[in-house]
This record gives sequence, structure tokens and C-alpha cells, in this order.
Amino acid sequence: MIIAEQKPLDEILAAIGDAKKILVLGCGACVTICFAGGAKEVGILASQIRIASSKAGKDVEVTEDTIERQCENEFFDRVKEKAAEADVVLSIACGVGVQTIIEVFPEKIVFAGLNTTFYGRPKEPGLFTEYCEGCGSCILNATGGICPIARCSKSLLNGPCGGSENGKCEVDPLNIECAWHLIHERLKSIGRLDLMEQVSPPKDWSTSSSGGVRRIVREDLREVKL
Ligand code: SF4
Ligand code: SF4
Repeated sequence: MIIAEQKPLDEILAAIGDAKKILVLGCGACVTICFAGGAKEVGILASQIRIASSKAGKDVEVTEDTIERQCENEFFDRVKEKAAEADVVLSIACGVGVQTIIEVFPEKIVFAGLNTTFYGRPKEPGLFTEYCEGCGSCILNATGGICPIARCSKSLLNGPCGGSENGKCEVDPLNIECAWHLIHERLKSIGRLDLMEQVSPPKDWSTSSSGGVRRIVREDLREVKL
């Protein structure tokens, strides 16, 4: 899922500026699961804005809502009146959600309340870890299901560098596991160490974000059904 975290409150308040009516809008999908932008966080952030505004002597009206997903137009119908009444919409969804609001409500000023960070998962309570960079041409079948692009600090494709020690990465031995150590252990456990000896050719990065704005066209979904 997409992992995000809330921007510092001061940054959010500076963005909102002198807006008088603010709709704080959460998203019920990824950012709810990573405790950054769900209904609970909407309530907390709305309260923080009210308190900060009151302390600053500002008369501000803050409304709250959370829709199922901010990355799909259909879910905005339920909040269109609230959005119409607000001067600004403060989205605490990922960057896709923020940009979707701008397309759904083009007349609205929209601010991002989160920093969208990576594709990952909650590994243990309070710890979210990156697992995928969305490179567009997945090589997990050759690496035992462990991604060296996202999880090796140098995105190496043909085994570890000289800084791998005791299963840890030299970039941060306390917190980062060496991806190539994990790959080796995984391949050993499934009897596929032969894959370690296969040389990966240079990767075609044109399928990644380095190749320009990406899109997927599914003609079967675009057909008009009569
Ligand atoms: S190889 Fe690419 S698509 Fe597959 S997990 Fe890694 S970054 Fe994601
Ligand atoms: S120590 Fe391992 S994870 Fe770190 S850069 Fe080298 S190969 Fe990649």
C-alpha cells in the first residue's frame, strides 16, 4: 500500500493561511491503514487547526469528512456540498488523492496535509517499511520474491556490494537489512541458489518513472458495452 505521514502542523497552518472555512478530508484506504489520513487523523488534525486558529485569534470554521477513496471520482459525490461551502480543502490522502480533488472540484483551492513516501507495509506496530518502487517491470521471480530495487540501498541487481556484513546494510547497519543477504537466504531456503549465479542484464528503466509519465491502457475495459 501507499505509505504516507502527516506534514508538520506548522507547515499545514502556513499553507492554509487566512482561509476561513476549511474542509479536512481523509481517505479510507491506504492512509487509514498507515494511520496518516483516516477518520481518526482527520478528527485530530481538525481539532489542532481549531485550537491553533483560536490561539491566533482567528475565526475559522473547520468541517471534517473521510471518503472511501480519494483516488476515484465516484466517492466525492457525498462530500460535494461540504466542499462547495469550504474556502479550501485540506486533503490528508496520498498525492494521488490530492490531485484527484483538483480534477473533481477544479474551482477549489486544495492543500496536501501529508507527505507521500513509498509503497510498503506495516512490518510491526509503528514501523512501516518500503518494499516496492513501482519500477514497471518486476524482477521478483528472479530474486526469491525480495526486491533489490526498493530494499537494497544501492538498488544493485547482481548480488551484494562489499558493505554487506552480518546481514546488515552498510548504509545503516542498525536499521537496514541487506537485501541481497535476504535474497541469498530466501533462495537457499527454496533450493534456488542457482538464481544467484544468473547475471541480470542492465535493467530497462523506461518502464519506471525515469521513462516519463506512465499509464496503462486496458482496451478490454475501454470498450463500450452495448
Ligand atoms: S522489481 Fe520493481 S515492481 Fe517488482 S517489487 Fe521491485 S520495484 Fe516493485
Ligand atoms: S549492503 Fe546490501 S543492501 Fe546495502 S547497499 Fe550493499 S548490497 Fe545493498
